[in-house]
Amino acid sequence: MTATSIICMMAILHHVHGDHVDEHALAVSATNPVHCTPQTRCSHKHGPACGHETVPHADHVDYLVDGRLHHPHGDHCDDHGSVHLA
Ligand SMILES: [Zn+2]
Ligand SMILES: [Zn+2]
Ligand SMILES: [Zn+2]
Ligand SMILES: [Zn+2]
Repeated sequence: MTATSIICMMAILHHVHGDHVDEHALAVSATNPVHCTPQTRCSHKHGPACGHETVPHADHVDYLVDGRLHHPHGDHCDDHGSVHLA
């Protein structure tokens, strides 16, 4: 068995045990907390067609606005911290 095939098997096993959570999603951390920031207001409500890039974060999707994660919440956005994408 080659090293490559072993890595493939491990990836598959990991995927099965990963349940519904996307392994590539950002983790909730001090840098990217999940909290409510009622003072964060945008000119529009983010959606699939708003033009902002979407970023998977924990079990939800945020919108990338000026390098920060915005999560639509009622009449405002929750600021889930800054991200630096490669
Ligand atoms: Zn909020
Ligand atoms: Zn926003
Ligand atoms: Zn938007
Ligand atoms: Zn978030």
